[in-house]
Amino acid sequence: MHRADVAIIGAGAAGLMTAIWAGRRARSRSTERRVVLLDGAARIGAKILVSGGGRCNVTHDVVDERAFAGSSRHAIRKVLRAYTAEQTVAFFAELGVTLKHEETGKLFPTTDDASTVLEALLREVDRLGVALEPAHRVEAIERDGGGFRISGPWGEVAADRVVLATGGKSLPKTGSDGFGYHLAKSLGHSITPRIFPALVPLRLPEGHFIRTLSGLTVPATLEVRTASGKSLVSFTDSTLCTHFGLSGPSVLDVSRYYLDARADDAQTQLVINWLPHTSREEIDHVLQARDGRSVSAVLRGLLPERLARVLCERAKIDPALPVSRLAREARRSLVQCLTALPLPIIGDKGFAVAEVTAGGVPLSEINLNSMESRVCPGLFIAGEICDVDGRIGGYNFQWAWSSGYVAGNSV
Ligand SMILES: Cc1cc2nc3c(=O)[nH]c(=O)nc-3n(C[C@H](O)[C@H](O)[C@H](O)COP(=O)(O)OP(=O)(O)OC[C@H]3O[C@@H](n4cnc5c(N)ncnc54)[C@H](O)[C@@H]3O)c2cc1C
Repeated sequence: MHRADVAIIGAGAAGLMTAIWAGRRARSRSTERRVVLLDGAARIGAKILVSGGGRCNVTHDVVDERAFAGSSRHAIRKVLRAYTAEQTVAFFAELGVTLKHEETGKLFPTTDDASTVLEALLREVDRLGVALEPAHRVEAIERDGGGFRISGPWGEVAADRVVLATGGKSLPKTGSDGFGYHLAKSLGHSITPRIFPALVPLRLPEGHFIRTLSGLTVPATLEVRTASGKSLVSFTDSTLCTHFGLSGPSVLDVSRYYLDARADDAQTQLVINWLPHTSREEIDHVLQARDGRSVSAVLRGLLPERLARVLCERAKIDPALPVSRLAREARRSLVQCLTALPLPIIGDKGFAVAEVTAGGVPLSEINLNSMESRVCPGLFIAGEICDVDGRIGGYNFQWAWSSGYVAGNSV
């Protein structure tokens, strides 16, 4: 059986970051520490390579806890503050990866190539002498005296300390299939009752008019409302109609809130406003123009023609009708379709497509100064396995860098 001082399970963003800081810390103390990094995947870093459309959105200009959900925001902030986006930028610069800002606040490598990020992390892991072991899926972690015994089909490692950085369940083909939750439970942790896809496209029933608009992208607001109509949360951003339903940043961002609220109450509604930058009153006003223009001519100034046509159909209005002849009820119905159309969502695209997982190990079970487990001393936990999920925009990687930094420095 091999021996290690520190065994990190999972070599995704969080595991690589943990390994780097554990390695640096050992060097700075001139101690001989053996750090091993075990990953079940034969190829390390598959998720980093596909992230951000192959460009890897490393972090965001402004990262604060309001961009996250899951555990308490206070707890999330504590970890984010321990390692900020500025520190992330400096860290990558030191590794030779310069990041550039996009208008949206997202930061990408100047190469526009995720492999720049992965290769820099792997080079640093190698420089620090961390033993990286691909194709080492961990099937069990047991307490063994004061340490741990880690095993899989490849054999066993005994380690004084263990870091669980096995990710969530999203994109399971990259190796993150949720087995880490089982490992965490076996060491005494609880997992949130709900583990569900986040940042995930949503499906509409066959025959729904939005499915006929496949490929159309428009700005829109997606709002989650309770059965009584109370607004819970909304996101305004680019929205993509697809052959199965809806995707795009607004939909991905709203998805976890909608899915969570709907699991509590099946009457929860998702409502779309196709004209997020025009008030209801303004729309109502232009639809009362007396200049002889048709409904389609008026809507042409506001929306793509294909969308305007199907929304008229939906409101049972002939688009050729002059707006001056629109009855009040018809106008109301059209304004409703334009600004507050309920979406009969039938499901989501699942973990195979979701960018992140909602739910996981509650931060209340982790000491956030160190990321050490409060229930199993010697065990540390970092990354997406935690009950933390962020919006689109680099926030999820920032969580991996921040929690990995804290764990690596403490372990
Ligand atoms: C398509 C896509 C695009 C994304 N784009 C972005 C983006 O641009 N910006 C952003 O901020 N976030 C993005 N994300 C989210 C981000 O990639 C993740 O939140 C982040 O990678 C999580 O890092 P992690 O290390 O915690 O987990 P993971 O990256 O999931 O890594 C976990 C690792 O653990 C290994 N593992 C799991 N179980 C075991 C086991 N039993 N034994 C051994 N090894 C195991 C897995 O093989 C994997 O390598 C994207 C996600 C996807 C799916």
